[in-house]
Amino acid sequence: MTPQHPATRVVHQHTPPLPTSHPISVPIYQASNFGFDDPDALSDALNAPDQGFAYSRYGNPTTRALEETVAALEGGTAAVATASGMGAITSALTGALRAGDHVIALSCLYGGTYATLNYLHDHFGIDVSYVRGEDPAEVATAVRPSTRMLYLETITNPVTRVVDLPAFLAAGKEAGLLTVVDNTFATPLLCRPIEHGADVVLHSITKYLGGHSDVTAGILVFADDARYRDGWHHTMEMGAAIDPFAAWLTLRGIQTLALRMRQHCANAARIAELLAAHPSVEAVHYPGLATHPDHEVAKRVLADFGGMVSFDLAGGRDAGYTFTKGIRMVKLAASLGGVESMALHPASTSHRQLDADALRAAGIAEGTIRLSVGIEHADDIWADVEQALP
Ligand SMILES: *Cc1c(COP(=O)(O)O)cnc(C)c1O
Repeated sequence: MTPQHPATRVVHQHTPPLPTSHPISVPIYQASNFGFDDPDALSDALNAPDQGFAYSRYGNPTTRALEETVAALEGGTAAVATASGMGAITSALTGALRAGDHVIALSCLYGGTYATLNYLHDHFGIDVSYVRGEDPAEVATAVRPSTRMLYLETITNPVTRVVDLPAFLAAGKEAGLLTVVDNTFATPLLCRPIEHGADVVLHSITKYLGGHSDVTAGILVFADDARYRDGWHHTMEMGAAIDPFAAWLTLRGIQTLALRMRQHCANAARIAELLAAHPSVEAVHYPGLATHPDHEVAKRVLADFGGMVSFDLAGGRDAGYTFTKGIRMVKLAASLGGVESMALHPASTSHRQLDADALRAAGIAEGTIRLSVGIEHADDIWADVEQALP
């Protein structure tokens, strides 16, 4: 019997059989290399992802258990795990694109993705058109004869815009494009883009899938088998393979994904409402609030509204800086998606080179705070946030 519910699937992972039993948890195969008796079997294992294990850059039993778990969660055929989220993104882009190709991407992309697209432009003449993600007709307008790919994110950083995935993916298909979705912020518990027609879904495992701020990794999930085999081959040749220990940490972390996401979402909804009622807060960006511009889309596309909340402090840059100096339990940190609450003031840290106009173009205000709401008791999170508010 194959369990249908993601909450069950993350708990029961595939473990290798021993002669009369099988381990309840997936063991770590901390081996880079595997010995063979039969030279043909070694050759087969080097040539395809499903013919046994020869060398851990090509495949490893622990890594494979993670790939199978996430592929099943996302409703894909198969997956390839990588050393980081950026490893997955770089592999997806360089595997599919050729010099001179054109990409259509969301304008509010993850910073590293934006930087990689710039690099591919400068080095290989790959052009990018950025769309706002508000109207699927933007895809047809941006498309050129050389367009190959539509690149989207389910929920954007830091202002939590939610793109109408079914409509945008349909527009991408209509134009004959390969569709790639970064589903890091939503996780497969809130959205499964392959069910809406995506060809490739990718994650920074470093965030919610790992969930404990102790692993750097990524993963690519493919809707169809031929693309998976190409993706496996390319990722393996590029050397972006995950380490078995990182895969094992992720398998352990992911068993509680459903529980964690429920708590992240419940806490974030509560904190968003409390922030919205606070006099120092000018605006709250959370797709679960009726005031959010994408609230109706989010209700259709997401099973819940996620753990990321951002808000604009009325006092601008100084107020944002004061807030991040004032938090005690909530960690001032660049990353997100861990069990612990974390905050970031982009204007004084990740985006400090930008002036007010450049920040606004990136959808960020001088007083914007990004809060990755953890799984602590919501009262404790709010008590710390409230005492740090100006
Ligand atoms: C963090 C992040 C990445 C990059 O992942 P790394 O594991 O840091 O390489 C990509 N996309 C999104 C949405 C992210 O949040």
